[in-house]
Amino acid sequence: MIDSQGRTIDYLRISVTDRCNLRCVYCMPEEGIVPMAHNEILTYEELERICACAAKLGIRKLKLTGGEPLVRLGIVDLVRRLKAVEGIEQVTMTTNGVLLGEAASSLATAGLDGINVSIDTLDRQEFARITRRDELPQVLGGINSALEAGLRVKINCVPTRQADPDGLLKIAAIAKEKPVQVRFIEMMPIGLGERFEGLPEEKLKACMEERFGKLLPCSDRLGNGPAVYYSLKGFAGHIGFISAVTEKFCGGCNRVRLTASGFLKLCLHYDRGIDLRAPLRSGMDDIELLRLLERAIAQKPAAHHFEQAEVAHRELHSMAQIGG
Ligand code: SAM
Ligand code: SF4
Repeated sequence: MIDSQGRTIDYLRISVTDRCNLRCVYCMPEEGIVPMAHNEILTYEELERICACAAKLGIRKLKLTGGEPLVRLGIVDLVRRLKAVEGIEQVTMTTNGVLLGEAASSLATAGLDGINVSIDTLDRQEFARITRRDELPQVLGGINSALEAGLRVKINCVPTRQADPDGLLKIAAIAKEKPVQVRFIEMMPIGLGERFEGLPEEKLKACMEERFGKLLPCSDRLGNGPAVYYSLKGFAGHIGFISAVTEKFCGGCNRVRLTASGFLKLCLHYDRGIDLRAPLRSGMDDIELLRLLERAIAQKPAAHHFEQAEVAHRELHSMAQIGG
């Protein structure tokens, strides 16, 4: 559907859980967050119903995220069910990859269209420092299993200003050997991310060109979102940059988000949105649900204001709770 700013909204990110098996320093506190009770989390039937209504409004692509989506039981079945929803053209997932080794082949069979694996370093000790868990071999194994299962793989890396440039180049080099898109995502001042400074895109690009040669702008459209992609000579895959803070792309934003508890969030930066769980559970019919979604999406804010220190209705939840 078209929102009040004239943007086409066709993409829904769904957080299926606020739980996670890692504790990334910029996302989750060491002790974790107080998880939602099971009955607070939308059931798969409820998610399916929301997606069916959203598809009638023009949502075409779904991304399952969290928390860590692979820790939720029955997630493969959810992929299968959402793929069967009329109007939905694509279901993808963002994961930390720890459980991907065992899930990759069933996700592919269920029809998953692609998987984004988050990894900020290839150094085992540094990985354990950032995520507070020693799980790097599992994640690397998961990436290989996903490729073997025929899944389209993207790597997401969120570098901090202190990140070792050499380590980041090693991550970029995954796209040299494998047909994957490696995307460098700018740290956003959300939740614990506020305490970290991201690495400027220009600095990263300069390091990359020094090591690999000229970054050549990629004319093909490679994804559903704001990543700007480049090719490098001799690379099997591509390198992308997503810089929401310094390269604000709100004018082309195509997405809304659904939290695990059923809150439809209209922009990452604000706590504004609408609760869908209570009306769903109090017997609202599909036509009313559709109207509710339509009214909410129409009110999507024009832009984030990450550059301002004080903003009314600013989001205070962590990325794991919102579904990054
Ligand atoms: N657990 C899954 C994962 O890590 O991919 C899915 C949820 S996680 C919140 C989704 C993505 O958000 C990850 O790539 C993570 O690195 C990123 N992320 C978390 N906090 C962020 C922040 N403050 N700024 C930018 N990206 C962030
Ligand atoms: Fe978990 Fe993903 Fe947040 Fe890391 S970024 S703590 S893996 S939800």
